[in-house]
Amino acid sequence: MIAEKKYLKPSTIAEAIKFANDFIDDFCFVAGGTDVLVNKFQGNKDISCLIDISNIPELKKVSVLKDKLNIGALTTLESLKQHDIIEERFPALLIAAQEVASPMLRKTATIGGNVLCENRCSFYNQSEWWREAIGYCLKCEGDICIATGGKKACFSKFVSDTAPVLISLGAKIELMDINGCKTVDLESIYTGDGIKPRNVPETAILKNIILPLDIHFKVIFKKLRPRQAVDFTSLTTAVSLSSNGNLRLVVGGCDPKPVVIDGSIDGNLEEYIKKALAKSRVVDNDYYSRKYRRDMMKLFLEESVNELLK
Ligand SMILES: Cc1cc2nc3c(=O)[nH]c(=O)nc-3n(C[C@H](O)[C@H](O)[C@H](O)COP(=O)(O)OP(=O)(O)OC[C@H]3O[C@@H](n4cnc5c(N)ncnc54)[C@H](O)[C@@H]3O)c2cc1C
Repeated sequence: MIAEKKYLKPSTIAEAIKFANDFIDDFCFVAGGTDVLVNKFQGNKDISCLIDISNIPELKKVSVLKDKLNIGALTTLESLKQHDIIEERFPALLIAAQEVASPMLRKTATIGGNVLCENRCSFYNQSEWWREAIGYCLKCEGDICIATGGKKACFSKFVSDTAPVLISLGAKIELMDINGCKTVDLESIYTGDGIKPRNVPETAILKNIILPLDIHFKVIFKKLRPRQAVDFTSLTTAVSLSSNGNLRLVVGGCDPKPVVIDGSIDGNLEEYIKKALAKSRVVDNDYYSRKYRRDMMKLFLEESVNELLK
């Protein structure tokens, strides 16, 4: 029997959460839809109920509250630059947002959807027929990871470009579900398991991304990809130096979750880079080889640290 298809468009967060609980296990929130709908049409995500949250005004606000900047989850990547405070205090976030996809996509793609976008792998992001021909993979219907031949772990890569910068800036996120609102560190939602890369409750709405205004940061962002537009990342790095001397190295695109190394500007910089390389579980599931991405990671991190020290 074909499941009945549903499309719902709540106008408040409470209504969205209610719909989510009504259709638990068979729904998906849609913000800009540039990630989730592609996965749905490729057959990677089989869901009957779409809950379109794009009409919820509460999720579109950008505001300053004491020493915090709240960026509503529905803020589009394109519109981030309209906010002077973001340009003034967090220019690296604008650079990262401008590196996502293409101009057209950035007009609908949201920052919330970006930090929650699905992991990718060259053996997973293919048409249904392609995947069927290779017997599917661990992330979707199969029982083996095509990239490694293993049966236990999926190494689909974390591809959000804004998340590494946000994590380097100490971002927190505000999540709301039926039990109320909670604020957690952005990096804490990523599991490192390529099959289920995030541990956010399924029915929770991401309300705000929160950045600290009482600390100043200098951030260097870099991204490796075959073409300068449209292509997803093969490697993203964000290295920050805060006004209190903390250094944070964040690597995306080379592991199922963002790899984060904390240190200080007076610490052993070479050691931090070695740690980032050791922690990144890079496998051959990308346009570029594993070796090339690891070599580039070392180079990007060295260059970033040197630029920060200048
Ligand atoms: C051709 C192409 C190129 C791309 N290139 C890049 C790239 O270079 N870098 C990159 O990072 N991404 C890229 N993307 C992926 C995507 O466009 C972006 O990640 C985008 O920011 C996703 O935002 P969205 O609003 O469209 O998310 P959606 O597709 O609407 O949602 C993504 C996920 O987040 C969940 N979600 C969204 N908002 C909320 C919320 N407020 N609360 C709870 N759950 C929510 C959805 O349920 C879904 O699971 C590309 C996509 C395409 C099609």
